[in-house]
Order: sequence, then structure tokens, then C-alpha cells
Amino acid sequence: MNKKNTNSGLMSNEPSKPGINFIRNIIDNDLKNNPQNNRKWAGKPMPHSEFKGSTEQDTVAIRTRFPPEPNGYLHLGHAKSICLNFGIANDYHGLCHLRFDDTNPVSENSEYVESIINSVRWLGFDWDNQLFYASDYFDYLYSFAIKFIENGDAYVDSLSSDEIKDHRGTLTSPGKNSPFRNRAVAENLDIFEKMRKGNFKEECHVVRLKIDMESPNINLRDPVIYRIRHHSHHKTGKNWCVYPMYDYTHCISDALENITYSLCTLEFEDHRVLYDWILEKLVKYQIFENPLPKQYEFSRLNLTHIVLSKRKLVQLVSEKYVDGWDDPRMPTLVGVKRRGYPPESIKLFCDRIGVSKADSIIDYSLLEDCVRESLNNSCYRKFVIFNPIKLIIENYNEAEEFCDASNHPKTPENGTRKLPFSKELWIESTDFLVNPPKGFFRLFPGNIVRLKFGYVIECTRYEIDENGNPLTVYCRYFPDSKSGTAGSNKYKVKGNIHWLSSKHAIKCEINLFDRLFKSANPSGCDNFLTDLNQNSKVIVNALGEPSLAQTRKGDQFQFERHGYFIMDDTKNNGIPVFNRTVTLRDTWVKKNK
Ligand code: ATP
Ligand code: MG
Repeated sequence: MNKKNTNSGLMSNEPSKPGINFIRNIIDNDLKNNPQNNRKWAGKPMPHSEFKGSTEQDTVAIRTRFPPEPNGYLHLGHAKSICLNFGIANDYHGLCHLRFDDTNPVSENSEYVESIINSVRWLGFDWDNQLFYASDYFDYLYSFAIKFIENGDAYVDSLSSDEIKDHRGTLTSPGKNSPFRNRAVAENLDIFEKMRKGNFKEECHVVRLKIDMESPNINLRDPVIYRIRHHSHHKTGKNWCVYPMYDYTHCISDALENITYSLCTLEFEDHRVLYDWILEKLVKYQIFENPLPKQYEFSRLNLTHIVLSKRKLVQLVSEKYVDGWDDPRMPTLVGVKRRGYPPESIKLFCDRIGVSKADSIIDYSLLEDCVRESLNNSCYRKFVIFNPIKLIIENYNEAEEFCDASNHPKTPENGTRKLPFSKELWIESTDFLVNPPKGFFRLFPGNIVRLKFGYVIECTRYEIDENGNPLTVYCRYFPDSKSGTAGSNKYKVKGNIHWLSSKHAIKCEINLFDRLFKSANPSGCDNFLTDLNQNSKVIVNALGEPSLAQTRKGDQFQFERHGYFIMDDTKNNGIPVFNRTVTLRDTWVKKNK
């Protein structure tokens, strides 16, 4: 029942005001209609009284949970769910649990658990001791399954998985009862116990709920709730060889933790009746009491030019299309962290896109706008030159001197840095043109520009290489024009360019990134891998101002006119490597229109 319509709403933004959404409206209504309803664990002794979720904090009215499966790293889609669940808990003075949905030992491991914990923390959220694992509840889940069997609501099926599939029917045709559906309770209990003891191979038996094989909702056609897996589990080791299925586990975990609002993505809409069916049965068996947790669905985050499916992300990593989970081109939270996206920018983005039930694909540039907004105020400015050509000031005969350069144009309190200035400089090759078009205010023969934070210069002549490309630009400078001195005001120039003293500049390596996929909706391609952009990473050997030699991993800057950058690493030869986080303006849209 895949509800996703990947073409609808392409490139549109979901209409929602930050902070207000249909889920918050539901909560507000619930609180208004029942202000006293401090939903409390009903006080019934649990079958196993040591249940650790039941603490004195049980009286909070609002409890949400973020329930990742530890089978991959978190991505930007998860961030939407994290911001929603933790955001609601924060704003309503409730609690948000971090719960690992770890019921499939085959694809889950503790590396993923650790990375998920770190990523939620990195986003700035806190679960206040409410860290749980569905595997903590294996005893309950098993004992409840026995209750279902005892009450005639579940049975052991011994059809093969292919036969079960055949019996299930389709969206348009009903399913058929399994010949094992009416097995006696005692026989069901006996086989289930033997399954648990490890007496059978994996495909021999499963436990299914007995609901309705003719239901129009396929999820109600006797869903499997237990299967055999002879596989060690990252937490419970070899204790179990029967594992509960997602739909069965999820609602029960919610109820055990006294979750009030179970928020999930739209593909679970058709599972909601099953969620309620299971919990209502457990109320009937006097295991749970009302009020029960309620499930609400919202639309997944989709972004242009990227994939947000763990299966596809695992493939990109394992088949080495990218350099690991934290490759800065990846939409994983570790990837965007390494790319330099501040957590605030992701939260701002999630606020802006809002939460609704409308399927859409959000334009990636909306996220980049949030990143620019977050970085603009915090990043110091630096001079870096990507494609240098030499500029010689013929009438400059000083040894060298320093120019005061402000660290941030808007906040003088952030101080200045000293830029060494000398006779031989580097400038960006794109800042000099022999035959400039109209409106080009930078350097060309006869033109006057200011070397930012330094002197005003006039281009007097130039040399070209054998291909006719400018090699060296010559100029004269005006000694009374130095920025910050009294005389400098009389020079009115239209162009302002950045520069480096050639003997002081240091070598830097810069990683420039482009979209990882060429088309807006790579998941719509027959094979998303054919849509990979082969030029999504370009390495540039650049020159930077000397202060960059002192930077540390994670430091972030604006390299004037080139964008925002984060220090990634230092190479063995001491050369610092920077990742471009984002350009200054949305050059991508312009380039591709
Ligand atoms: P994937 O489809 O990438 O494999 P998943 O849904 O299987 O993701 P889970 O670990 O089960 O991944 O997800 C944890 C929570 O995050 C779930 O509640 C899920 O609904 C939510 N989530 C996952 N992807 C998105 C997304 N793109 N947008 C919003 N929420 C998401
Ligand atoms: Mg899932």
C-alpha cells in the first residue's frame, strides 16, 4: 500500500506555518477537551513488574517517541521526525523517548545504534533517560503472543512463506484461510514453545493473528507476528530465536512506554487499524487499560536531487559510490555535519517545511537557504583564491606591511586580522579580463579597483601565456589610498577584489560539491544509480591567507565570494582540507535553468 505519489507536488513547499501543524491542533484539542487527563500508566501491575519505563515521570500528559530501526545511519528525513517528536515534547512539557525498533537482528547492529544516538544528540535533543529498545520487551511480547493464542486470536501457521504470500490475495481479491488456521490452542502453544526453544529451522512455522483473510485492508489478513530467526541479536545475543514483527512490536512498545501520540509517516496509515486492533485486544485481556496510545500519520520528507531511503543509502555506501556514510554529499546527518550544515539550520528547515499530510518533494535549495542563514552571522571571513594569477605592483617598493581586515562585516566587535601585503600578489583569474563586457567592474587594462582592505590600484599592462591566457597583471598603486587611512575616502571605485600576498599565501585543498543526483527525483528513475552525477565532487588546489594555517577540524568560515567552508582535515604534508558547505547564493538554480 504505497501511498507515495512521487510526482505530485514536485518542487513545492508544504504550506504550513512554523510551529503550527495539524498534529499540534489535535493535541491542543485533546488538552482543551480533557485538561485533567494526565495520562498515567494505568496502575495495573505489569506482567513483569520491573518494567523500567514506568517511573515517577509517568504523569506527563504528552509523551512521544522517535523509533529508528538501527539498520543504517539517520538521514534528513529522520530529522523531520525527530524535530516533530522532540519539538512537541519540549513545547508541551512532555517527554520524547528514543526507542530503537530492533526486532530484525539480521540487518541491525550496534554501530548503527551508536551513530543514531550521536546524531540525535548532535541535533540538540535530549531524551532525559527515556532510552529504550524494543528488544527490552521481548519477554512481554512473547508472553502477550501466548495470550493471543490462548484467546484464539492467534495461531501457528506452517505454510511456507511463498504459500502465505499466495494465500494473502491482492488489493482487489480476498485472501484464503490457511489450512492451519483452526489448529487447537494446545497444539499452537506447544509448537510456539518449541519454536522458541530452537527446535525448528527458520521457515518452518510462524505465528499469525487471526483477524480476517477477506478484509479489504491487507494488513488485517492474519498478519505474521512472530518468525524464527537463528541469528544473534545486537542486544539479546543468542537468547532468542523467535523475533516479533514490526507492526506487533510497535504498538505494544508504545503502550508499555505510555506513549500518548505515536507519530509516523503516511505509509503506516493503513496499519493503524491493526495497531488499534492489537492494543484493544490487550485491553480485553486486562493487560493494558485505556486510554491507549494513538497513531497519527504525516508525510515523509522528500528532497530534490537526493534519495532518502535507507536501503538506497546503504547501497551507495556498500557499493562505494560515495566515501562512506559521512561523505559530505550524503543526506545522512553525519554527512551534512561533515559538509558543515549546523544543526540549527536543519531545525530551521524543518520548521519552515512544516508538517502535513500532503506528499511533496521539497526543493533542496530551501535547505541551503537555511544553511546560509545559520552560517552568515557566525562565520568569520577569509581570503582564499581558487585560480590564481599573479599581480605585480610595479611602484610598490616597501618590503611588506599589514592590512587590517575585519573578521565580520556586520559585527566590528569581532575584531580584525592582519593580512600581509607585498609587491607580488595573487588575485582570482576571473577578476581580470582583457576585454571586459559592459558592467564588469573588476580589473581590466586601464581600470581602477580596490584591493579589499588594502590599496587602490590601476592596471597598467599584462602578459599572456602561449595560449593567450593572462599570466601576469601589472599595476600601480596609490600610496595614500590604504583602507582605513584618512586619504582613502577620495578614491571612488566600483570594483573591490580579494588578493593574497604571494610569499605569505598557504596551500589549501578544497572539496567542491554538486548535487549527488542529476535529476530532481532520482527515485523516479528505473535505476537510481544511473542518475548519479559523476561530477558531484571536484578537488581544487587553492591558496589561502596565512591565518588558515591555524584552523582546526570543524572550524567554519566564509571564503569571500566563494561560499561557506568547513575545515575537514589536515593532510600528511600539513595542507588543510576544506569542504564547501554551500555557495553564497543559489548558483545551482541559475546554472541549470
Ligand atoms: P527508510 O524508509 O529510509 O528505510 P524507515 O522509515 O524505515 O526509513 P526508521 O528507522 O524506521 O526508518 O524510521 C524512524 C522514524 O523516522 C519513523 O517514525 C519514520 O516514519 C521516520 N522517517 C523515516 N524516513 C522519514 C522521512 N523521509 N521523512 C519523515 N520521517 C521519516
Ligand atoms: Mg521503518
